[in-house]
Amino acid sequence: MTVLEFEPVPAVADTVRTPGLVVMKFGGTSVGDTEKLKRVARRLVDARESGAKVVAVLSAMGKTTDELIRLAHEVSSRPHPREYDMLVSTGERISNALCAMAIHDLGHEAVSFTGSQAGIVTDGSHTKAKIVEVRAQRIHTALDEGMIVLVAGFQGVSTELEVTTLGRGGSDATAVALASALGGACEIYTDVEGVFTADPRLVPDALKLPKISYEEMLEMAATGARVMMARSIEIARRYGVPLHVRSAFGDNEGTWIGEEGNLVLEKAIISGVTHDTSEAKATVLGVPDRPGIAARVFRALADAGVNIDMIVQNVSDHGATDMTFTLPKTDLPAAEPILEALSAEISAKGVVYDPDVAKISLVGAGMKSHPGVAADMFEALAEAGINIEIISTSSIRISCVIRATEVERAVQAVHERFRFFAEERVNA
Ligand code: ADP
Ligand code: ASP
Ligand code: MG
Repeated sequence: MTVLEFEPVPAVADTVRTPGLVVMKFGGTSVGDTEKLKRVARRLVDARESGAKVVAVLSAMGKTTDELIRLAHEVSSRPHPREYDMLVSTGERISNALCAMAIHDLGHEAVSFTGSQAGIVTDGSHTKAKIVEVRAQRIHTALDEGMIVLVAGFQGVSTELEVTTLGRGGSDATAVALASALGGACEIYTDVEGVFTADPRLVPDALKLPKISYEEMLEMAATGARVMMARSIEIARRYGVPLHVRSAFGDNEGTWIGEEGNLVLEKAIISGVTHDTSEAKATVLGVPDRPGIAARVFRALADAGVNIDMIVQNVSDHGATDMTFTLPKTDLPAAEPILEALSAEISAKGVVYDPDVAKISLVGAGMKSHPGVAADMFEALAEAGINIEIISTSSIRISCVIRATEVERAVQAVHERFRFFAEERVNA
C-alpha cells in the first residue's frame, strides 16, 4: 500500500505558455566534478544557441548530499529538521553557481537561483516538503533577457519562508514542476541511457524501454527504480508533461514517459523488475483480535508521519494475531517508541524489527489482462531457492518481500523469466 499522494502544482498566475522552452535536469553523477560541470555548461549553451529558452536544474555534485547527511548525523543522532534542510540544500547551490560561472566563460549570460529565489513554494514539512506552487516570475524575466536560468534542485521555500527540501531524488520534482508551470519540455539527463527493464547495475543485459506510461513509471519509481523520483511522475501525469530520460554523456534517444494512450503499448505486459532495500519489516506479536486495533496502530504511525507500505495480518489463533508491515528504515527511530507504547497499551506480546529485508516487484500494465504472471514470478523465485515472506499486489504490480542478501539473485531470476516479454515490448 504505497501511498501515492497527489501533489498539487497550480500553474503560475496566468501561465504564459513559452514556446521553445526546455527544462534540462542533470543528476549528481552527471555533475560529479568540475570537468563534468563544464560539459553540462556546454550542453546548455548548445541548446540556447539552437534557439531554445533554457532552464537547467542541477543536483548536488556526486555524493555531496550523502556527505552532508553524514555530517548531520555525526553531530546529532536526530538532526533538527529545519537545520537539516538548511544544511543539505547547500549542495545544489554549489553545483548551480559553478555551472553558471562556466557558462559565462563560454560567452553567455546565465544566472543561478536557489529554490526560494526561483519561486518553488512548498508546504512546511521539512525533509519531505511538497511543492504547492511555482511563482516563476523571476525566471520569466531572466529568460526574456536572454539568460540561461539555473535552478537549484531538491529545495524550496515554505509558506512560512523557511528553506525546505523535497526528499531524496527531489531535483526530479523541481524539474517537472518547473516544466509544468513554465509550459516547457522536460529532459532528465542521468548516468544511464534511459529507463531499463531492471536496474542495469544488477542486470547488465536489461533492456532500455523506448516508452513507458506514467502509471507504469510511477509503480516502478515507487518500488525502487531510483532513476526517477516517484512524486515527479505524479506531477508529470497530473499536468501531462512528457518526459525524456536520457544519458548526460551522449546524444542517444532515451526513454519517453507519457500517457498510455499516446504510447501504443499493446505489447506492454511487463515494463520491468524493481527492487528496494530501503525498508524494514516490523511485527507486532500477539495482537488481540478485536475491532479497532489495526486502526489504532496505523493511525498512531500515520500521525507521526511514518509511511507504511505492505501490511499482513495472519488468521488469529486463540484470539490473538501477528500484524506485520514494512516501513522505511529511516522512519524506524520515529516508529519504535510509538509501537512500544502501543504494544503495552493493547496488551500485545511485543514488537520485533527486521531491517534485513528487500522488496522485489514486477510491474507491467498488461498484467491486468494476462493470467499467470504472478505464478510465473513465484516460480522463478522458487527455482532460485528464494523464500517469499510477504506478497502484495496492485492491478499492474506484484511485490514480494524476501531476504536482503538474496535481492540480486531474485531480480536476475525474475528478469530472466520475463525476458521474452521484455524483448517483445522493446522491439514492438
Ligand atoms: P541522478 O543522479 O541522475 O538523479 P540516480 O542515481 O538518482 O541518478 O538514478 C539513476 C540510477 O538509477 C542509475 O544509475 C541506475 O543504477 C538506477 N536504476 C535503478 N533502476 C533503474 C531502472 N529500471 N532503469 C534505469 N536506472 C535504474
Ligand atoms: N541531491 C539530492 C539527493 O541526492 C537531490 C537529487 O539529486 O535529486 O537526493
Ligand atoms: Mg535521482
